[in-house]
Amino acid sequence: MKQKGLLYTGKAKSVYRTDTKGQLIVEFRDDITAFDGGKKDKLKNKGSYNAEASAFIFQHLVKNGVKTHFIRMLDPRRMVVRELSMIPLEVIVRNVAAGSIVRNYPFKEGTKLNPPVIVIDYKDDSRHDPMLNDDLIVALKLATPKELAAIKKAALKINALLVKLMAAQGITLVDFKIEFGRAGKTIYLGDEISMDSMRLWDKKTGESLDKDVYRFDKGDVMATYNRVVKRITKTAAPKNTGTVKRVPAKARPESVAKRKASAKKPAVKKGTVKNR
Ligand code: C5P
Repeated sequence: MKQKGLLYTGKAKSVYRTDTKGQLIVEFRDDITAFDGGKKDKLKNKGSYNAEASAFIFQHLVKNGVKTHFIRMLDPRRMVVRELSMIPLEVIVRNVAAGSIVRNYPFKEGTKLNPPVIVIDYKDDSRHDPMLNDDLIVALKLATPKELAAIKKAALKINALLVKLMAAQGITLVDFKIEFGRAGKTIYLGDEISMDSMRLWDKKTGESLDKDVYRFDKGDVMATYNRVVKRITKTAAPKNTGTVKRVPAKARPESVAKRKASAKKPAVKKGTVKNR
């Protein structure tokens, strides 16, 4: 497959056209951002850690009947995906209260949310991703009521699968964000599911194992991401993993990136803006 022109570039990923109809390449870059882009860094190997976690998770979901855009990995940071017309919704599933719902509502951090709470935001940086409700989603023609029901059903199924996957490795899936897109009339899970888009807590120690380590300078971000990828992918490997190769440990010089990000303080005070 040949990579062609850049189609879209986001805060941490770039999407390229290819010479194959209906297929794109997503490149996971080493950029990391938080607080609406107020805090930014480049962390060596971050792209490949997130790509590997995402690829593993997508394959696990596919094996369990979830339609995702994942096709295969080209190399440790480039994923071949089905071309989708993305729906500008950020679908967040929460099992434990943390992050923005603790800041915005009277939840105590750590409160279990059972059944899980789905929050859907409008993906629009210029408006700071405001929260939507079903009526707004339909009125804005972002999705039909039928599509919205399918998206919520898929989000809960993905949640149930991931809660189990993480629990097997002693990790609590606190919350995560996913995005969907259309190919024809079919809705697929797109984007990524990685340490950037999930909130993960070690069940024993309560330690953060995700982007909160970067957001709040909790420690060595890349050492954490590396450990998490190893833990997650240790779970009984999904069938058909032949296309995803683990990056040899020696090709992952964490030491280079040590504390680069955590040396910098967030540009904004913790708790005053969306925790992104
Ligand atoms: O900031 P908040 O608590 O609302 O985030 C909920 C979850 O969604 C977190 O796991 C966060 O990393 C993820 N998220 C994301 N991208 C966004 C917003 C939230 O990955 N733009």
